[in-house]
Amino acid sequence: MIPKINGRTRYSNSVKKHLRKIKPWQAGAWDKQNNNIKLLKTQLRNQLLILQNSKCAYCGLDFNETSSSELEHIAPKGGLKIPKYLEFTFTPLNLVLACHLCNSPIKKGTFDPVIHYSQNYKECTFKIYHPFFDNPDVHFDYVFSGFGMIVQNKTLKGRDTIDLFDLNSAAHINARGRNKLMDILKAALEETQAEEILTSTSLTSEQIADILKSTTYKKTL
Ligand SMILES: [Zn+2]
Repeated sequence: MIPKINGRTRYSNSVKKHLRKIKPWQAGAWDKQNNNIKLLKTQLRNQLLILQNSKCAYCGLDFNETSSSELEHIAPKGGLKIPKYLEFTFTPLNLVLACHLCNSPIKKGTFDPVIHYSQNYKECTFKIYHPFFDNPDVHFDYVFSGFGMIVQNKTLKGRDTIDLFDLNSAAHINARGRNKLMDILKAALEETQAEEILTSTSLTSEQIADILKSTTYKKTL
């Protein structure tokens, strides 16, 4: 399920000092290969993995399920030729971890999610779901479809988010179904048993769901 991120990330004093020194932040600053920037990314990644419970900020799927995680700017920093919100390049509230599925849709590259701009990040408003600011229950709902799970929008913001990140791609729907199945298995079995079953190559999600249909599976749905 699409998560809300409670809490926020913080930089160490040495990183903060470096960020002050390089202000105003320039295009390309994010990709500089120096120790301070490497440390900053490590700090963000470690804290976000905990805050996000190792789940993608946009689709809510386990990173194990959808490949590795990537640090993602909500208001984009843009490229070297066409920079965008450079002033938010290192703003902690503008940075989340997203999965490869959510980070790759073509539309995302040129999309500007900011509706109302303010130099104060907290005063900006966004066209898409903001994992630090918004409540996912207001914007999204879920329905089972076969062995997958579809996300539905309850608001226009929900709709635009689903559209932008292609949250109902076959890969997302199937991964969501598998995630849900894993939760059900974990509730019914010891965690190690559940993991063994799901990593076993001899059983498909459909077969596991069939096994569980007469017991916990139906009740939990
Ligand atoms: Zn994702």
